[in-house]
Formats: sequence, C-alpha cells, structure tokens
Amino acid sequence: MAEPTAEERRNARVILNRLKKRYPDISTALEYADPWNLLVATVLSAQTTDANVNRVTPVLFERWPTPDDLAAANPEDVEQVVFSTGYYRQKTKSIIALAADLVERYDGVVPNDLDELVTLRGVGRKTASVVLAEAFGIPAIAVDTHVKRVSHRLRLTTESDPVKIEFDLRALYPERDWEGVSMRLIQFGREVCDARKPLCVGCPLADRCPYPDKTGA
Ligand code: SF4
Repeated sequence: MAEPTAEERRNARVILNRLKKRYPDISTALEYADPWNLLVATVLSAQTTDANVNRVTPVLFERWPTPDDLAAANPEDVEQVVFSTGYYRQKTKSIIALAADLVERYDGVVPNDLDELVTLRGVGRKTASVVLAEAFGIPAIAVDTHVKRVSHRLRLTTESDPVKIEFDLRALYPERDWEGVSMRLIQFGREVCDARKPLCVGCPLADRCPYPDKTGA
C-alpha cells in the first residue's frame, strides 16, 4: 500500500475505536511468567486453543524451568507433557531446538528485538511480534489468519502476504495502538467475522465494511 490517505487513516481509526469499545481491555489469553514462557507457549499454541496450552505449560515449566533445562530434556518426556496440544512430536522438536538455540546464541535470554527473535529456530514473525508486544511492551503487530481475513474484508489492506499486511497496518495506526490492533482483530475474527459464517447482521463495523459477501445482506 502507498502511504495511507487522511481518509484511510480516519476510517482505520473509526474501526479501531469501535473495536476498543467492544474489547476495552485485551491481551493474550496465554498464561506466562516471563518472555521465555510466552515464547514457548506461543509455539505450542499453533492449531490449538490457548486454554489447552495453559493446561500444559505449568507442568512443562515446573519440570524444565529454564531454556538450559529444556535444551537437555529427553524428547520423549517432553512429548508426553505437550501431547494434548496436538502435533506433539513436531512441537517437542521445535521447543527443544528453540531452547538450544537460545542457550547457544543468547545465553538463554530472550532478545527483545524483532530482527533477532525471528532468527531463533522455529520463531516466525507472528510469534516474535506476540512476544515483543505482550512480554516486553514493545509495539508490534502480529498477523495471524484472523488479522489477515478481517483486515482484508475491512479493506485495511489489499495485500495477502502477512509481512505486507503488517506494514500496511503499521502505516495506518500510531505505534501506541499496534498491539491493541492485532489482539482486537483476532478476537473480533474469532467472535464475529468468522471465516465461513461472518455475523454481518448486527456487526458493529457493517457500515465500514465493503466485503461483498456479507451474510444476511
Ligand atoms: S460486516 Fe461481516 S464481513 Fe464485514 S466486518 Fe462485519 S462480520 Fe466481517
């Protein structure tokens, strides 16, 4: 997207203000004590619910509290603990490799920089943005499937590549709003603007939404 026009910024602000009304306080439902915990919880949250992850992480971190501990863990033992989050073999491999990488290159300390976070094994831009915004309070926009779909339907972007969407949203909103933008779009996508059956009748953004396939229209 080229530099947004004043009208595009105004429209984006109206949309965010309505979402703020609907979700005044919003943060990740993942439970964590520190950036390391959140990093692992976010990796485990792929293809499952945050509630499922929250049932597993206390056991995981009780047994292997630090990156050093997890890096040295027996994969079969870890698999048993993370089993209920699904894709347990792959997730076990990912979090052990991540722990080892963090120990080797960052002395076990999670970096608070997007460019460094994405160099860690198994950490993509979305995971890195969640950790930055939530655990460090550094402005970042995480683009997941909900953010992608909802921002498209609302024409906050016309891009399909997550990184380009992220930059479109960054350009539309001031930094202080970045974190709240993704968390609210995610929640709204889960509750209202569903992938297959969006609840367009009564949607608080219907008058701002050019999506051609609105339900009930
Ligand atoms: S009107 Fe429908 S498609 Fe548009 S934002 Fe609302 S729920 Fe989503």
